[in-house]
Amino acid sequence: MPYVHISRCADYDEGRVEAAVRESVAALGGMQSIVKPGDKVVLKPNLLRPAIAEAGITTHPAVVKAVARLVQEAGGIPTIVDSPGGPHNSAYLRLVYATSGMERVARETGAAICHDMRVSRVSHPEGHLVKLVELLAVIVEADVLINLPKLKTHGLTTMTGAIKNLFGAIPGVTKAGYHAKLQTKEQFSQMLVDVHQACRPTLTIMDSIVGMEANGPSNGELREVGLLLASRDGIALDMVAAALVGIEPLAVPPLAVAAQWGLSGGRVEEIAVGGVPLAEARLAAPFKLPKTATGGRRQSRWGFLSRLVDHGWLTRQLVVNPSANDRCTACGTCVQSCPVAAITIETVSDRGEQKQRACMDLTKCIRCYCCHELCPHDAVDLKRHWLAELVVR
Ligand code: SF4
Ligand code: SF4
Repeated sequence: MPYVHISRCADYDEGRVEAAVRESVAALGGMQSIVKPGDKVVLKPNLLRPAIAEAGITTHPAVVKAVARLVQEAGGIPTIVDSPGGPHNSAYLRLVYATSGMERVARETGAAICHDMRVSRVSHPEGHLVKLVELLAVIVEADVLINLPKLKTHGLTTMTGAIKNLFGAIPGVTKAGYHAKLQTKEQFSQMLVDVHQACRPTLTIMDSIVGMEANGPSNGELREVGLLLASRDGIALDMVAAALVGIEPLAVPPLAVAAQWGLSGGRVEEIAVGGVPLAEARLAAPFKLPKTATGGRRQSRWGFLSRLVDHGWLTRQLVVNPSANDRCTACGTCVQSCPVAAITIETVSDRGEQKQRACMDLTKCIRCYCCHELCPHDAVDLKRHWLAELVVR
């Protein structure tokens, strides 16, 4: 039976975070059972885009720092690695590492920061959709991968946690290709589960001290959760995380795929939970879901219409559409991130003033919501047609 450990951690005080990480890792058998002296250990936080720790978008540096220390105590050599969304170049990567506090963690612990963007092709014969995966070479060459996701809602996958975080093990350009090719939530989720399994993380520790609800993963609302989750089984950890924030686990598309493929039993009751009991850890008020979610607690008033929204022609008519609002600075980040080149910067008239603004061509848009996720100015609104609002609450 998979085991997930839940520790309480009220805030990001480094001492408290380290104590929670130590408690969790000890409950899983100790870092010595995971890392051997001399092992190359990749720490994979969620570094979605350049954002300060307090914005709650990225895995907090206090969590990464505590894990780096434990790895070093076990004799391992930690390296902080991510391939964030957005432009795929070393200047952007440096900005992400510096802004998110990872450079400081590296300075204070002696952990390395990875700027190596080499790519390795990995055969994954057990994969259902993806049997050959392109991953960052540093992840493939590591002895141990420790996945450090952040608990947030997500426009495309309802929730982001362990499974979704390893999408960041894929180099930038390839990520955009997957978005372009796998246009349904189901296909995209199948790819995510294959990639998670191909990466074979040994340990997952989730920063759920402050999570993000509503329109996550970057423009949602911060929510104090006060917990740290750890497991050797990332899928089980995501199941527990979903349950404790009031999201039906199998309404999270990657978790539904994992259950369908027999990678989980599909029921939280089949997971052993230690530390804080699940009933006690569960939030009194559930997470607000993203507008784009059609599962979780968003139930269709008319089931058949909801199924059409998910899978059929209504998708094109009624799904949530992205559009730039007047906070847009025409910075071009979304233009570079859109996997199907559906965004251009155009001159528009705004209250009599001529302005440059991002314009989304909805005939090309595949609703991946990367523009919403990566806009540094919270300038991409996600709006549903009034008719869709009647169909999906
Ligand atoms: S919508 Fe956001 S990312 Fe796109 S150009 Fe405007 S400010 Fe930049
Ligand atoms: S316009 Fe936005 S939501 Fe549409 S495909 Fe491009 S990045 Fe994705």
